[in-house]
Amino acid sequence: MASIFSKIIAGEIPSFKVAEDENNFAFLDINPIARGHVLAVPKREVDYLFDVDDRGLSSLILFSRRVAKAIERVVPCKRVGIAVIGLEVPHAHIHLIPLHGVYDIDFSRPKLKLSPEEFKETAQKIAAQFSLTAL
Ligand code: 5GP
Repeated sequence: MASIFSKIIAGEIPSFKVAEDENNFAFLDINPIARGHVLAVPKREVDYLFDVDDRGLSSLILFSRRVAKAIERVVPCKRVGIAVIGLEVPHAHIHLIPLHGVYDIDFSRPKLKLSPEEFKETAQKIAAQFSLTAL
């Protein structure tokens, strides 16, 4: 059965999309720990990140870098941190999280409550920056 992320990529489940390329897709985490918390996901469904092949992994990390540069331009932060957990959704993904300090990447913190309008505005701004950001 397709993962929830494959369904998002296919457009069968809505998401606040921020970026896409040939191999990868990025959207806002629905239970963010920070504003601008993005998930970068390979389109090819593999459960465990470290089972993704060399080309897929390179492509994902280069894509994530481009997304992170776009996030930095929208959400004030010292830098964008990355985390890989994968305990909830069995489809490899990288969390991209704007950071002011290490506490911003604490997944045990209460999740942010954002309105659909706030999600939409953040996603649109990151998407606009992504489209301007070439490496
Ligand atoms: P992990 O697998 O890395 O432990 O956590 C999966 C992440 O995906 C969580 O941060 C969770 O909020 C997010 N997530 C789970 N289901 C959905 C969904 O349907 N849409 C979005 N946008 N995020 C999701």
